Amino acid sequence: MNPVELIRKKRNGTALTRAEIEWFLAGYVRGDIPDYQMSALLMAVYFTGMNDVETTALTQVMLHSGEVVDLSAIPGIKVDKHSTGGVGDKVSLILAPMVAACGVPVPMISGRGLGHTGGTLDKLESIPGFRTDLTVDEYRRVIQETGLVLIGQTREIAPADRKMYALRDVTGTIESIPLIAGSIMSKKLAEGIDALVLDVKTGDGAFMETEEQAVALARALVGIGTRAGKQTVAFITEMDQPLGLTVGNWCEVMESVECLRGKNVPDLMEVTFVLGGAMVMLGGKASSIAEGMQLCRTAIWTGSAYEKFLAIVKRQGGDISFLERPDRYPPARHVVELRSPANGYVDRFATRRIGVLAAELGAGRQKADDVIDPRAGIVFKKKIGDRVERGETLAIFSTEREAVLERAQRELESCIHVGPATVERKSCIRAVVDREGVKPWTTPELY
Ligand code: URA
Repeated sequence: MNPVELIRKKRNGTALTRAEIEWFLAGYVRGDIPDYQMSALLMAVYFTGMNDVETTALTQVMLHSGEVVDLSAIPGIKVDKHSTGGVGDKVSLILAPMVAACGVPVPMISGRGLGHTGGTLDKLESIPGFRTDLTVDEYRRVIQETGLVLIGQTREIAPADRKMYALRDVTGTIESIPLIAGSIMSKKLAEGIDALVLDVKTGDGAFMETEEQAVALARALVGIGTRAGKQTVAFITEMDQPLGLTVGNWCEVMESVECLRGKNVPDLMEVTFVLGGAMVMLGGKASSIAEGMQLCRTAIWTGSAYEKFLAIVKRQGGDISFLERPDRYPPARHVVELRSPANGYVDRFATRRIGVLAAELGAGRQKADDVIDPRAGIVFKKKIGDRVERGETLAIFSTEREAVLERAQRELESCIHVGPATVERKSCIRAVVDREGVKPWTTPELY
């Protein structure tokens, strides 16, 4: 086989065989096929797509590029959650310890920031000392001892995704259903889970901007999970404004800590409780999502979810004193406040541009080897539907980069729109997708 011939074949819209996908990916993981040829193949897939047979083959080849961990010796139904990527999406940081505190083991393999979206790994690594690069043995030991483990793709687990993910981030090849499906499901099937809950985001800040695309991605993900024998449920959730009140790394960790300690940030906690409730149900600890949600909320109220977070941070090398005394964290050099130009109501965010801006402030990467600045980020004081007076603070951004200050201020101003009319606040969960199909969703009340 010849890499150029395979790139040309895909570029011309012909389906690749499983053997061809296997040969190309194995060569890439070994280092025989260089980044520029993989980039060309990714771009060909981006433009011409993959059929279901190719997507399944891609996922299986990526899955078997490394070790498939067997956690069957660990008691309990192991359940994980994964998001397709959003702006301010720190759900995993709250949900993983919360669900583990309900007695469901959560082995979680996450990714770094991708495109304009943030990544759980970058957020976790903003906690001084926190290690996400555990060996497979350490991974097994930590989940056994703590009921929770939070790592990234490694040289041993899903190495093909580790390399392809970093390359897609800087080559404009993220927004592709087969590439997202292969990336997510290879990691998830490698980590030893029994069931999976997916958060498929839609809207301006998501990779799938329309609900139709999000449903197509959710169906692909649920199909792959179900065929692999894992109970898989996906929720279609809105990404038309940053989730919660922060976008960045350390500021998102701090917001997560506040929520673990009982703060209610409505959109963030709606998604966290619904996804958590579904995980607790799939994990066999509740008979419905609503009952699972109640158990999750009890885990927050009793402090057991926060205790579990402290335990996992400590176990993976993190210094918990920064979580308890955030004033010890070194502040960013530049902190700029943005004020409302008018009286009115916040009615729109340019969410994707906010994600891009956060990366420019230092919270994400523009080149593969860029180093993240954990202090860079944006804190929002208002959400869609909030009343605001002229001169009131809308948001505060932090950065070390003096050169971006003026442009960042102008850009952020144009990303938050204040209008004269009231705006209805809605649930941010639109639908649920399982093996039976797509169903509308209404979030049960917590009492
Ligand atoms: N999350 C992933 O792990 N991979 C993608 O491609 C997109 C979101």
